[in-house]
Amino acid sequence: MTNKYWEQQSVSVNRLRQQGAQNFFQSIPNIQHAFHPGERWLCCIDEGCPGGVNLAGSGILLGVEGAARIAHDAGVTAITSHEECGAAKLWAKQSGKNAETSDDYGKEFSAELAKRLGVSYCHLPLSEMTRPAGLHVARVIYYDGTGTFDPARLPELPPGFVISRRYLDTEYALRECGIAISIALGDHGFGARFTPKEPLLIVAIGHPTDPVLSLEKLRAELEPVAAAEGPRVAVDGLVAKW
Ligand SMILES: [Zn+2]
Repeated sequence: MTNKYWEQQSVSVNRLRQQGAQNFFQSIPNIQHAFHPGERWLCCIDEGCPGGVNLAGSGILLGVEGAARIAHDAGVTAITSHEECGAAKLWAKQSGKNAETSDDYGKEFSAELAKRLGVSYCHLPLSEMTRPAGLHVARVIYYDGTGTFDPARLPELPPGFVISRRYLDTEYALRECGIAISIALGDHGFGARFTPKEPLLIVAIGHPTDPVLSLEKLRAELEPVAAAEGPRVAVDGLVAKW
């Protein structure tokens, strides 16, 4: 069965696959606009909440102190929560709470984090998100070593989960990557639609100058994660030269 959200992305995802991430990004006019250091909202990694700095559930899995440290280092100026947050649901399940009301925990956490940091807080209902209710449409996971990447800024870029690797340690960043993979491959994502021929793509975005966040380093982190998932998950990458 076709799905319009899958089909809508097929041209861009096929180009990304065929050209490779570096050439594909290079071919997009004004690609530098996808890298926007000025926007410092803390948002979920959910592809429906693009922009700013991204942490799963705005950091709910790290707790307020852990999330506050990262948000402070990233210069975050506002905190968001959102409807249908998979990370808040995961936290509720892991904490023995009622997963049916997990969005409430996401809201409480984000409001508390905002208060701790002395910044503003807002909640994004589905009507203000860029994906449909009940479906994660991401065919790509961006693993961002620059901390400034936002695919929603350019229509040529397929939507995707964004993991702000620049601000995270490797272990936690890979945990977020694992969450994104499990959502995309699961019942709330495109699931069985991903095949070895049309895999879920993880795109590493290497920092142009910082060796700790180089493309080689990020790829080396991601390759074992993708390999463990089998041929339905593939890794590509680029150096952000813009
Ligand atoms: Zn979320």
